[in-house]
Amino acid sequence: MSLTTLENYFLPGSGGEVVQLLQEYGERAMILAGGSFVHGLAARNLLPGVDVFIDIQKLGLADIVAGSGGLEIGAMARLADLASVSEIREDAAWGALSDALRCPPVQIMNTATVGGNIAAACPYFDLPTAFLAIGASVRTEGSSGSREIDLEDFFTGLFENSLAQEEFLTGVALSRPEPGSASAFVKLETNANDLAIVNAAVHMTVDESGACQAARVALGGGVNEIPLRSAAAEKLLTGQVITDELPAKVGQAVQADISPMADHRASAEYRSAMASVLTERALRSAIARMTGGN
Ligand SMILES: Cc1cc2nc3c(=O)[nH]c(=O)nc-3n(C[C@H](O)[C@H](O)[C@H](O)COP(=O)(O)OP(=O)(O)OC[C@H]3O[C@@H](n4cnc5c(N)ncnc54)[C@H](O)[C@@H]3O)c2cc1C
Repeated sequence: MSLTTLENYFLPGSGGEVVQLLQEYGERAMILAGGSFVHGLAARNLLPGVDVFIDIQKLGLADIVAGSGGLEIGAMARLADLASVSEIREDAAWGALSDALRCPPVQIMNTATVGGNIAAACPYFDLPTAFLAIGASVRTEGSSGSREIDLEDFFTGLFENSLAQEEFLTGVALSRPEPGSASAFVKLETNANDLAIVNAAVHMTVDESGACQAARVALGGGVNEIPLRSAAAEKLLTGQVITDELPAKVGQAVQADISPMADHRASAEYRSAMASVLTERALRSAIARMTGGN
């Protein structure tokens, strides 16, 4: 599809209308949020059979609300809006998200939406990896009402997610982290406008004795068809007193959980090696943040 073959463009004012349109047009229809990913797909003729856009900008889903339970992020919040939230910038526990939001170019920060970054289910994007490490769920609306889906269950394959045909994302929820938590995200890219070759994020909670009570290690950028958590790395980290040797071991442990892809930007072997390096760096950065050094 290119914009010249577009048959219908809708600008619904309610979630109910969106669901009706998705039901009516089925696979011909596509949700349009910031349009930054859709544009690239359309320009490359990668939307065969799609000739209906459902623009959801009038739904009023752009609020970001901080409460005692955590953060509710509307699907239409722009990446720049999220980056400007003081808690995201200042709370070490959400440091991974703050790091990830430094990656996209400013034009994308001002155009792209949080919902679009997740719904695209693109393994090379940065927010899904950060959200997976921090722990997030997505909220949806569809013909059977609303649902909450753990982000880990949302990505089902390359550019595929678990949304039903007539369902769309309304927001993302983050729980307030435990005290003593910190997180960090790192990305490998070829240039400042590039998507990740590999990215990694670590979230950890440390008790007063210096032992890691809970850990979440996430990777993306083509280490698999979907961004994922590394159970092996998390197991190795949990319960350990943090030492200088530990980050390299945790980095090695991710090898048990990844199946890197090869493409014109990187071989599977390179991605594999970098996955360990980036995990180690993310962990070191989270540790530094925990101790106030970053
Ligand atoms: C030059 C450039 C540089 C970039 N750099 C980075 C980077 O450094 N890091 C990074 O993470 N990303 C980067 N991106 C990707 C960018 O972040 C995504 O294109 C963007 O987040 C997608 O959001 P959008 O609102 O534009 O979505 P759209 O393009 O509108 O939609 C994307 C997909 O999600 C679907 N969709 C959107 N919203 C919803 C919803 N609420 N419910 C259901 N489905 C929905 C659409 O139907 C479509 O399939 C870059 C993109 C470009 C063009």
